[in-house]
Amino acid sequence: MCGIIGYIGSEKASPILLKGLINLEYRGYDSAGMAVLNSKSIECKKGAGKIEEINRRLNFLDLDGNIGIAHNRWATHGEVNDINAHPHFDCTKTIAIVHNGIIENYKELKERLANHKFESETDSEVIAHLIEEELKRGLPFEEAFINAISQLEGSYAVLAIKAGEEKILAARKGSPLVVGIADHGIFFIV
Ligand code: GLU
Repeated sequence: MCGIIGYIGSEKASPILLKGLINLEYRGYDSAGMAVLNSKSIECKKGAGKIEEINRRLNFLDLDGNIGIAHNRWATHGEVNDINAHPHFDCTKTIAIVHNGIIENYKELKERLANHKFESETDSEVIAHLIEEELKRGLPFEEAFINAISQLEGSYAVLAIKAGEEKILAARKGSPLVVGIADHGIFFIV
């Protein structure tokens, strides 16, 4: 089982997310990654390996911003490599998601999204492209997220962020998801 941590608040997100990833290490994982919202865009660092080694290579703390999501992957679909590590993006690179679980109908969904460019072999990436597709219909982020999630079959805990939106959206089915409220912000933990 993988681990997810999300943070939105007044503190810099990356040190909190890194600590969260380290705290979730005991579950076992093969890759890790983090995406943080800047004033306009999303910056992401991810790779295969152990957190300490990935962090030495990529330096997660370079990521600046107060909203972010992070993931320890336990691969179920697609081999263990840097590209398959979470977070995953849509074609426009403005939506980032992390996912715990298995999307059972991902092949069927991917076929419907044939005009999208997929980078990874994961089942999870389809979620970002589904949100993108719903946004193209002119829906606000929240509604696009809800519509995308309603198309998923399987088990999931998902966190999503979007460039220009100061929020984290979360959903779960069959996977645990805990929301914690602190003085300085809100945590999402899977
Ligand atoms: N099914 C996803 C993958 O293979 C998520 C696995 C997990 O829960 O870590 O990337």
